[in-house]
Amino acid sequence: MVDLKSQYLKIKDEIDSAVLECIASTQFINGPQVKAFQVELEHYLNVMHVIPCANGTDALQIALMALELEPGDEVIVPSFTYVATAEVIGLLRLTPVMVDVAPDTFNITAEIIEKAITPKTKAIVPVHLFGQCADMEPIMALAEKHGLYVIEDNAQAIGADYVFGKGKKQKAGTIGHIGTTSFYPSKNLGCYGDGGAIMTNDDELAKKIRKIANHGQDKRYYHDVLGVNSRLDSIQAAILSIKLKRLDEYCALRQSVAAAYDKVFSQIPQVIIPTRQANSSHVFHQYTLKVPASDRSALIEYLKENAIPSMIYYPVPLYKQQAFKTYWKSGEELPVTEMLCDAVLSLPIHTEMDEIQLNHICSAIAAFFA
Ligand SMILES: *Cc1c(COP(=O)(O)O)cnc(C)c1O
Repeated sequence: MVDLKSQYLKIKDEIDSAVLECIASTQFINGPQVKAFQVELEHYLNVMHVIPCANGTDALQIALMALELEPGDEVIVPSFTYVATAEVIGLLRLTPVMVDVAPDTFNITAEIIEKAITPKTKAIVPVHLFGQCADMEPIMALAEKHGLYVIEDNAQAIGADYVFGKGKKQKAGTIGHIGTTSFYPSKNLGCYGDGGAIMTNDDELAKKIRKIANHGQDKRYYHDVLGVNSRLDSIQAAILSIKLKRLDEYCALRQSVAAAYDKVFSQIPQVIIPTRQANSSHVFHQYTLKVPASDRSALIEYLKENAIPSMIYYPVPLYKQQAFKTYWKSGEELPVTEMLCDAVLSLPIHTEMDEIQLNHICSAIAAFFA
């Protein structure tokens, strides 16, 4: 699905010397590379505060902890997402309220969210799924109307631009009260291990978040609140600085693969290509087709026979997971989530795809449906 090896080889010299320098310095934790990357990412995203942390799941958990919610408070999340988005809500003894998504964008909308708001609702966690922004302007307006916090789960759309009605652009992850991201290796900005970050324009929240991520302390050995230990290590930060310089180029490479896919697959009546929204750029963390549910397993098999990997993101609605059964009134299926779990298929997309690979994948899929 990705080709991290070829990507590494193109930047090998720069990466190797940065990593070796870091090892030689022995400042593995909190080395100058961490602060440097933090500032570079703040600049790239045009956001006041970036707080690096250990992974994208921690980022979500720490963001929620900073809101100081009470057990039983409700947090609205999409039912069609990666487990981490809702898992941390339950872990903190908050209640994840899983809602349906739009069939074209795969994302939650203000309209869907509004129906799920109760007096116990305290926050919304929109996910910018597969690389395209949820429609943030109406979501922020709704949140303001009801006094709710918004945490953007931006693990999949770093670098994407959200476009407001008046034309103003803002980077995904910097629009809500807090944004979170992951630097897992296969993410659009991936390191060589685990990593994550939290973004906010709110000085008070930034202070709280920094403290929580560091055992609840500002001053060493003085612990004001219960926190966690969540750090981005120096080696990962050094690698991320090198890759951040290329993030726009990496996004463009993914977009050109997507454009080539679109051209071929829009000619196949049985498949539906990813929707392009006017209010967001798409950085294609995934290129996800909708295919007839009855054809999907055979198509996956056919691709496998032709040495083409494909993945189902995500095969099971969150509310049907064993771990989430206490949050679900059984029988209440969400129709769009159900439909998507049966119809989606993600194809290989990455920064190193060449014409030969692309043509091979396109002709295999065209041949299957011919
Ligand atoms: C990857 C991902 C996460 C979690 O990130 P980790 O770094 O693996 O903890 C959270 N939410 C979404 C939508 C993701 O894709």
